Amino acid sequence: MTSLRGRRLGQAALLLAAFVLPAVSAYNSNGKRWFDGSTTFYTGLPGISPSGTHWSAAFEAAMQQWSDKTSFKFIANKDYLNPCNSYSRSGTGSDFPSGPGDLKNGVDFRSTVCGNDWGSGVLAITLTLTTSGQFGFEYLQEADILFNDTYKWDVYSGAKNSKIIDFGRTALHELGHALGLGHELTAKAIMAAQISDFNELQPDDIAGAESVYGKQTLCRITTLSMNHVIKDSLGGTDCRVNQLFGGGSDDSFVDVYRLSLAAPTRIFVDMRSPQMDAVLVLTDSKLRELDIFDDYLGSCNAHMDKTLPAGEYLLLANTYAKPAKCGSNVGSYTLTVSDSQPVLGETRTTSGVASAATLISGGASADGGLTYPSSFTAQDSITVSAHLALDPAQIGQNGKIFVLAQLSDGSQYSKNSSGQFVPYHGDLSQMASYKSGPLAAQEQVDIIQKLRAEGGWLAGLGFVVYVGYALDSKPADIQYGSEPIRFNITR
Ligand SMILES: [Zn+2]
Repeated sequence: MTSLRGRRLGQAALLLAAFVLPAVSAYNSNGKRWFDGSTTFYTGLPGISPSGTHWSAAFEAAMQQWSDKTSFKFIANKDYLNPCNSYSRSGTGSDFPSGPGDLKNGVDFRSTVCGNDWGSGVLAITLTLTTSGQFGFEYLQEADILFNDTYKWDVYSGAKNSKIIDFGRTALHELGHALGLGHELTAKAIMAAQISDFNELQPDDIAGAESVYGKQTLCRITTLSMNHVIKDSLGGTDCRVNQLFGGGSDDSFVDVYRLSLAAPTRIFVDMRSPQMDAVLVLTDSKLRELDIFDDYLGSCNAHMDKTLPAGEYLLLANTYAKPAKCGSNVGSYTLTVSDSQPVLGETRTTSGVASAATLISGGASADGGLTYPSSFTAQDSITVSAHLALDPAQIGQNGKIFVLAQLSDGSQYSKNSSGQFVPYHGDLSQMASYKSGPLAAQEQVDIIQKLRAEGGWLAGLGFVVYVGYALDSKPADIQYGSEPIRFNITR
C-alpha cells in the first residue's frame, strides 16, 4: 500500500480540434479507475443532429462501443441530468469549475465549461472528481461530459470534417476519459489528443481499458484453508499491487489469497513478519477494498478480527511501497487464519525448531465468544478455551496436550486429565497433561468453564495461559502458541 490521502480532486481533460503533442508512450491509463469497472451516465440530452440521429442515441452508441469491446461497462439512464449540477464558474485561468459536483454523470452541450471559458480549439471536455485510494490510483466518483456548442456538430463516419465535428467519435474520446484513460500520444487511437479520421475504438484504446479493467491473470491466487498456517514471503518475482489492480503507482509486493465462507463467520487472521511491515487488505471477490489492517497493538504485524457475511473474499498479504519502519518491504511472513478464536501467535517448540503447519488459537470470553477481552470483573462468568489444528504429518500419532497457567502471584498450574489444575514446579517432564493418546486433526481444549471470581482468591490476579502439545516420540519438544491467552480479573 501507499500512504493515505483523502482529498477529492477535480480534473479536466480536453479534446482539441488540432494540436500536436510530443510522442511518449502507448495507452495511458492515468492511474484513475472506477471501483466497479462500470458507471452510469444520464444520457437524456435533448436534440437531434442535422443528419437525423438523436444526440442521446449517438452518445449511447459510443457507450455501447466501449462496453462491447472492453471489460468496462457503461450503463445508460435515459433521464436528463445537467452535467453542471453543483458546479459554477471558478474564475479566469482555471480549467476546472468550482463546486463539489453531484456524484452523478451527466452530458450536454454548453457554451461555457460550467461558467468557465472553453479556451481555444477545445471541442469537448470531461470533468472528473476522484478520491485517493491507498493503492496508487484514484477512484473516480463523477465524470461529466460537455460538448462545446460554439462548434457545428453532426453524426457521421469516415474522414473528419474540420468545419462540422463528428459527435460520435468525440463522445467515444470523452467516454475514454470518463472511464479513466488519458491521452494517447503515439499510437493511432481515439484517445489521441486531437480528433482524427478514426470514428471507432482502435486496438490501443481497447488495450488501455483492458489494462485497467480486464481480467488480471498476472497474480496467482491461493485458496486459504481455515485453521491453517501459511509460510511465504514477499519479494522477487511476486505480484505487485499495480499488476493486481491493473495500474497505478503502487509497486509494493502482494500475495493474493481467496477466502470462501459458506456461512457468516467470525474470522481471525494474523500476518507476522520478522523483516517487514505486514499489511493485510480485505477485499471482495472483485478486489473492492473492504478493510485494511496494519500495526496491530503498535507492532509491525497485521491482525484482523472480523465477522463476515457468507461469500467470496480476497485477502491480500501486502507491505508498503516505501518502507517507513519495521525494516524492509520484502521478507518472509506467516499467515494464520482461524474461524474459532484469536490466533495465539506463531507455533513454537521448546527445542527451538519451528513447527511447520500447526495453528493454535484460544481466548477468554464472558459472552460466549463475541468478544475476547483482556480484563474481566469478578462478577463475569469467564470461559477460556483453545483449539489446535495440527500439522497433518502429526495426526494420529500418540501425544499429549498441555495447559499451563501462570498467575500474577507467581504460582503456576497445569491442567490434568481429570480437569483439575495442579501445581507445576517448573520441570517439563513432570507437567500434568490434559489429554494423552492419538492426536486428531482438530483438538478442542476446554481450559476454564464459567469461572466467577467473586468472593474468591482469584479476583485481582492476572492470568497467562499457554496451550501446547508434544508427540510421545519427542516428549520434551512441546509445541505451543507463542502468544499465550492473557487476561486479568479485577477485584
Ligand atoms: Zn481528451
